[in-house]
Amino acid sequence: MALFMPLAAFAETGHHVLVLFSNARLLPANIATEQSFRETLLSAAPNTEISTEFLDFPRFSGPDHVANLKAYVKRKYAERPPDVLVAAGGDALRFLHENQGEMFPAAPLVHIGVLTSQLDPRWDNRAVGVPIKIDAENTIEDALRLHPKVEQVLVITGSSPIDRSFEQQLRKDLERFVEKTKLQFLAGLPTKAVLQRLSELDERALVFTPGYFRDGEGRDSFPKETIDLMARAANAPIYVPFDTFLGTGVVGGRMASFHDVGNHGAKIVARVFARANAQELDLPPFMPTQLHVDWRQLARWDIDPSALPADTIEHFRQPGYWEEHYREVLIAFTIVAFQAALISLLLLERHRRHRTEAALQKNRFELAHASRLAIAGELTGSITHEISQPLGAILSNAAAGELMLQSGAHDTNALRDILQDIQRDDIRASQVMRRLRALLQKHEVDHAVIDLNEVLSEVADILRAEALRRNVALTVSLAQAPADIKGDRVQIQQVLINLVLNALDSVMEVAPVRRQIHVGLVLSDRTITVKVQDRGVGIPPENVTRVFDSFFTTKAEGIGLGLSIVRTIIEAHGGKIGVQNLQPHGAVFHIDLPRLEHKAPKERTAG
Ligand code: ADP
Repeated sequence: MALFMPLAAFAETGHHVLVLFSNARLLPANIATEQSFRETLLSAAPNTEISTEFLDFPRFSGPDHVANLKAYVKRKYAERPPDVLVAAGGDALRFLHENQGEMFPAAPLVHIGVLTSQLDPRWDNRAVGVPIKIDAENTIEDALRLHPKVEQVLVITGSSPIDRSFEQQLRKDLERFVEKTKLQFLAGLPTKAVLQRLSELDERALVFTPGYFRDGEGRDSFPKETIDLMARAANAPIYVPFDTFLGTGVVGGRMASFHDVGNHGAKIVARVFARANAQELDLPPFMPTQLHVDWRQLARWDIDPSALPADTIEHFRQPGYWEEHYREVLIAFTIVAFQAALISLLLLERHRRHRTEAALQKNRFELAHASRLAIAGELTGSITHEISQPLGAILSNAAAGELMLQSGAHDTNALRDILQDIQRDDIRASQVMRRLRALLQKHEVDHAVIDLNEVLSEVADILRAEALRRNVALTVSLAQAPADIKGDRVQIQQVLINLVLNALDSVMEVAPVRRQIHVGLVLSDRTITVKVQDRGVGIPPENVTRVFDSFFTTKAEGIGLGLSIVRTIIEAHGGKIGVQNLQPHGAVFHIDLPRLEHKAPKERTAG
C-alpha cells in the first residue's frame, strides 16, 4: 500500500510543512531539532514553507487542552493546509494519531524525536520516522567501565506523565543492574531532596538521569534546568541520554544528537515530497547512538581518555598546545632545525680550522726551530771562539802545572790557583754549550712565568762574543724591578737574538764609530717594553712596513723569515712589535708585552 498520497500541487506552489512540537517552544531539544530540520529541509527543497506549533505538554494537558489545540490548529491552517505533517515528540504524535482525521486527513505524517517507548503498538502505521532511544543500558555499561570504583548507580526521574513514562521504561531497561550495582531510583522526589542526596555521594556512585519536567512538589521546569541544578550539587559523575544537557557539568552518555534528529527528519520529509513510500525509505528501527562526552569532565572525574571508545564524540575539547599553536610550533621547529644545521656546519668548520691551525702551529714551531739552527750557524764564529778560549786557557794552565811539578817546586798555593783556573774555564766552556743546547733543542711551547731581565742577560751572554768579534759595542740595561711575563723562555730568547743579529748586520755597514747596539727594558704598569736600537743604516721609509713580511730581505744571503717569525712569536704572547728609524741614524725595534703582576714571596715572620 502506498503510504503517501500524491502531492500534485507541490511543484508549482512549494510545499507547506506543519511541525507540531510536543513541548514548549524554548525546550532546548526543540530549538536544536528545529534549527537543523529547517536548514536541511530548506537546502533540499528551497521553496518549502515551514510552520511550527508547540503543544506545550506536559505543562498543559487533559481533554480540554487537546480539544482547544485541535480547534486552533484546524482553523489557523484552514486556508493554507499543510502538505506534510510532522510530529516532533511522542505527545505530538499521539495528538495527531488521535486527531488528524478531523484536521488534515490527507496529509502524510512524519515523526521525529519520538522515543521508542512512546510508540504505541496499537497505532496504525500511518506515520513514518526514526524514533530515538534512551540508551541507558549501554550508557551505564560504558560509565561502569570508565569508573571502576563505582558500586552504586542512582537513576533520577520526575513526576509528570512523561517523567513517569521515562521511569517505567528505565526500570524495565535497567533491571539487570539492580543487583549488580545496587541500582536505585529517586523518582518523583522534591528537587531539594534530590540535590541533598546528590551532594552526599562520593566516588563509589554514579548517576543516570533524563532530567524531569515536574518534581515531587509539582514544580514544572525544563529537564535541562533540573540537570543544571543536579550537576552543580552532585559529588559523583552524571550520565544523561540527551546531548542538549552537555555543558551543564554532566559527563555525557550514549545518545543520538538532536541535531541529527532534525537533520534526519528533514531528509525523510524531502523524500516524502518526492513521493517515496515506506519501503523505499528503508528506515532503521531507531537513531543510532554514540558516546558523547564533555572533555572537561574527564579530568574532573579522573577518567582515562584512552578508555573511551574510538567513536566517542568529544565536546568542549580544549585544543592541546600543539593543536592551538601548531603554526608557531612548526615555524619554531623549522628555525631550530635550520639553526641546528647551521651550528653543525659551523662546528665542522671550526673543527677543520682547528686542524688547520694545529698544522700551522706545528709548521711555525718547526720554522722557529729551523731559524734557531740558522742563528747557530750565524754564530759559529763566536761560538768557536767562546769555547776555544777557555779550552786554550785550560791547556796552558795544565802545561804550567805540569812544568811546576817537573821542576820539583811544590808551591801548593800556586798549584791550587792553577787548578781553580782550570775549573773556572771548564765551567765557562760548558755554560756556553748549555746555553746553546737550550736554545737549539726542540721543545714544546711553554707558558711559564719568566723574568725578561733574566732572559735578556742570557741573550747578552750568548751574543757578547759575537759582538766583540765584530767589534760592536753591545750594551744592555735591565729593569729595576722584576719584568715578569707569561711565555716561552727560548722563544723570547730567539726574538731578542734575531733583533740583535739584524742590528749587528746593520751596524757592520757603517763606520766603526757608529757600531753601537743598545737593548733596554722599560716597565710600565701593565706593559714591558723591550727596545733594540742601533746606529746602523736604518730602514728606507718604503720598507718600514714590509720588514715583517715573510721572505722580505735586503741581504744577499738573507732568507727574510727572521722578523716574520719574531712577530708571530710576539703576537702569540699577546704582544706587539714595531720599528722606527732613529735620527740621525739607525733603527729601533720595540716590543710591548703584557706585564704580569709580580708576586713577591711572603716574608716569613719570626717564630
Ligand atoms: P733577513 O735577516 O734574512 O733579511 P729578517 O726578516 O730578519 O730577514 O729581516 C728582513 C729585512 O729587514 C732585512 O733584510 C733588512 O733589510 C731589514 N732589517 C731588519 N733589521 C734591521 C735593522 N736593525 N736595520 C735595518 N734594516 C733592518
